[in-house]
Order: sequence, then C-alpha cells, then structure tokens
Amino acid sequence: MNLGLPEKLAALCRELDDPAFVEQASAVGGAELLDRLRAGRSPHPERELDELNRLFEAADGLGFYPAAQRGYGPLPGARGAAGAARWWNCPDGRCSGHGLVWRGQPTPVCEITGAELVARPLTP
Ligand SMILES: [Zn+2]
Repeated sequence: MNLGLPEKLAALCRELDDPAFVEQASAVGGAELLDRLRAGRSPHPERELDELNRLFEAADGLGFYPAAQRGYGPLPGARGAAGAARWWNCPDGRCSGHGLVWRGQPTPVCEITGAELVARPLTP
C-alpha cells in the first residue's frame, strides 16, 4: 500500500457526504473512530484511518480507500505501460471512476452524471 495520509484523508472526506457510509461505520464498529477522525481529535489519524478501513474490509471485503491506489498495477507483460499508468477519474468526484486507462480505449462516462471521465496519473 503506497497511499499517503493526504490520499487516505481525501478518501474518507469523499465518503462522509454519504449517509450510508456513516451508518455502515457504526454497523462495523467504527463509530467512535469515525467521530474522532471527523472532529480532528485523533492523536494518530493515519493509524485510525487504517483501522477504520480495515473494519470496512473485514465486514464486506471493501475498504473505502480508492481501488486505484490499493497497490494494484498491471502485471508484467500486461497491455498498457506501467510506468505511465493512468486511471479514469470522475471529474466531479461522484463515482469511483473506471480503472486503468488503455491505449485507444473510448473515454468512459460517469455512471451518475454522464460526464466524460478524466485520465490522471496514479500518483497525483
Ligand atoms: Zn462519476
């Protein structure tokens, strides 16, 4: 996992708009962690973010950290150039994007807004 604290915090902030996320945090036993993180009262924010993400993963296999930054990359010999890997991102941050950008691929659109997704490098 090569995700930095700013990316982890950004992932949490994206989810906070979603009432279902807050409900789910309670359901997986992360209500207190979430409260501390939201209030900026966490003495170890990165550790607590990781712990909250782990609770989500343990519950349904899906953490809230972005999939594109969980450390996946193309396997050796896969199509696409790993060194210049780019990912489809939602211009409005409304959806989770569309994975790796392949050469010649038509531009995918956001499933929520219909806006064309934007190709960005893996590391901002
Ligand atoms: Zn979108």
